[in-house]
Amino acid sequence: MSSKSIEALARENVRQLTPYQSARRLGGKGDVWLNANEYPTAVPFELTQQTLNRYPECQPEAVITRYAAYAGLNKDQVLVNRGADEGIELVVRAFCEPGQDAIMICPPTYGMYSVSAETIGVECRKVPALANWQLDLPAMQAQLDGVKVVFVCSPNNPTGQVINPEDLKSLLEMTRDRAIVVADEAYIEFCPQATLTSWLKDYPHLVVLRTLSKAFALAGLRCGFTLANKPVIDLLLKVIAPYPLSTPVADIAAQALSEAGLTAMRGRVAEILRNRRELVSALQALPGVEQVYPSDTNYVLFKLSECSVVFKSLWDQGIILRDQSKQPGLGGCLRITIGTEAECQRVVAALYALSASITAE
Ligand code: PMP
Repeated sequence: MSSKSIEALARENVRQLTPYQSARRLGGKGDVWLNANEYPTAVPFELTQQTLNRYPECQPEAVITRYAAYAGLNKDQVLVNRGADEGIELVVRAFCEPGQDAIMICPPTYGMYSVSAETIGVECRKVPALANWQLDLPAMQAQLDGVKVVFVCSPNNPTGQVINPEDLKSLLEMTRDRAIVVADEAYIEFCPQATLTSWLKDYPHLVVLRTLSKAFALAGLRCGFTLANKPVIDLLLKVIAPYPLSTPVADIAAQALSEAGLTAMRGRVAEILRNRRELVSALQALPGVEQVYPSDTNYVLFKLSECSVVFKSLWDQGIILRDQSKQPGLGGCLRITIGTEAECQRVVAALYALSASITAE
């Protein structure tokens, strides 16, 4: 069979699909990786479970118990999955009828919501955020027909700001009995006071996504959580794979969520916030930088006059940032993950050298 006829066998929406351009897929040869919002150094773990001949538990008890305690929820409000990305897909699969229902997103935002919807054959309705990147509630209300899931990322990737709680309340009222509202809290450990988990008692249609990939320094583990009331969790349990987490993943996740693990995580957050303060002030002082946007996360978005030249030149020097300039409203913007102090200093030095050579031209 030729590759063309194989292509013809595929579903139409899959043939049309542009896959998510993850930082890893975009490649690059770097020694300073500041493009995927990871924690910059590895935390050592040892495996304690040796029972790899057996299938794992579908929802490993120790991980669920510890995450529920950490999040201040009941165990039946917690689902563990293969990264927050799997949580996104599960919600769309459980709630949206392909070819009929829609999801709603407010760009600029995280790219996997639309990729998941399009893969499943569900329309992705885009309601651009306002100029300050908050929700355009009247426009959202006007386009809610047929929408089953609204994705709001707070704090938002790539812009870095928390969505106004009052607006989220209005959105939850507007969607009551109509649609699920997913609050993606992948970065919430960097601004824990902004979490919506305590709202679950008031809103049966609220879903909160979490991950161990950021502040827990475990992006390679692929472990995330979906938090919601039991009726939602029960539906997601119907569509999740029988063994979503391998035994080593569950083993390490349980260790990361121990008291010592949580203390270490909070220490990392404090360190990242310190490095962020330093980086933000260095960027603000840089000639050619037009704006450094406030961030509640482990990354900073900034706007500069020679965005693509700077991105390419840093790339060639092995400093890999994320170019956001193709996203709606983000012309001239680069996103930089907060790395170690030394990494931040290297980027700043490279940017200063570049701005000197650009002004000299
Ligand atoms: N949501 C947002 C906003 C993210 O930035 C990311 C990671 N890039 C994810 C979800 C996915 O996280 P995970 O690694 O847990 O799949």
